[in-house]
Amino acid sequence: SAKHAGGNRIMCFDPKQEAEMRERLILEKQLRSALENQELEIYYQPKILVKDGSIQSIEALTRWRDASGEWISPERFISIAEESALIVTLGRWVLLSACRQFVNWERSGKAPELLSVNVSPKQFQLGNMVQTIREVIEETGMDPRRLAIEITEGLLMNNSMEIAEELRQIRSLGIKIAIDDFGKGFSSLSYLHLFQPTHLKIDKSFIDNMLYDSGQMSIVSAVIHLAHNLKMAVIAEGVENMEQFNRLKAEGCDYVQGYLFAKPLPAEEIERFASSYLQHGDKRFRVG
Ligand code: C2E
Ligand code: MG
Ligand code: MG
Ligand code: MG
Repeated sequence: SAKHAGGNRIMCFDPKQEAEMRERLILEKQLRSALENQELEIYYQPKILVKDGSIQSIEALTRWRDASGEWISPERFISIAEESALIVTLGRWVLLSACRQFVNWERSGKAPELLSVNVSPKQFQLGNMVQTIREVIEETGMDPRRLAIEITEGLLMNNSMEIAEELRQIRSLGIKIAIDDFGKGFSSLSYLHLFQPTHLKIDKSFIDNMLYDSGQMSIVSAVIHLAHNLKMAVIAEGVENMEQFNRLKAEGCDYVQGYLFAKPLPAEEIERFASSYLQHGDKRFRVG
């Protein structure tokens, strides 16, 4: 392959690979200008407290339509942003915008307890995460005790000692830390000790399969017990049906998130969803 052909890593003989590379470069350029022109949007998805069915928090999820109006999946544009320092700009923008929105909701009495924002480990490596968070809190008046950051474990392996120290500083501000997609990547139990997260989010793939695969169910159950023994709260992501909800409830899972409750929605729609959920409730989830 090109990699072994000599020092030139750009050399690419596979036309398919070359086309993919060219498209990524175009997308990177478009994403850069979308950020400059404030064309990205944030959607919000609720997390439900299993114990009483209330909306405990909301997660900010970034949305982007390219120049031709087509939705680009976050997985794709986040990975493109991670290849350049764009992730630092994007990450700061998401944090600032979501905190600003949350503070507005707080002032009008519409905010749940917590706001979760996804953070890429690359933001730690390429930017100054602690300083960014401090600045955003200052700028928006966000209560740090009502902020949680979600980090996927995959990239945490690099510079793990440095990241652990920064996470310690972030936690000391009162901010919660969740390990996202737990179990999906190169999970190592030693990370739980090193990063001292407050929350674990069990990856959707386990939730998808747990009702049909007793091995996966055992993993879900073991992760819940492990987290509780370490004084962490557990969230199940990608909950799509009542059977999954009931099973997770029986296993003692603390929070659930998924299409069963709500899809990620624009700010005004999540407001409407929350107020009708509060008024009418959903008898299947709500207690009392
Ligand atoms: P994530 O943080 O694990 O978010 C959960 C993803 O699962 C979201 O996809 C959400 O829309 C989707 N989801 C939630 N419930 C269900 C369900 O019941 N069924 C199904 N099929 N899907 C469900 P989304 O919004 O496409 O985001 C994908 C990933 O992109 C996120 O995974 C996160 O890792 C990343 N991402 C999104 N926004 C940001 C951001 O602002 N910053 C960073 N660093 N990453 C982000
Ligand atoms: Mg997340
Ligand atoms: Mg996740
Ligand atoms: Mg996931």
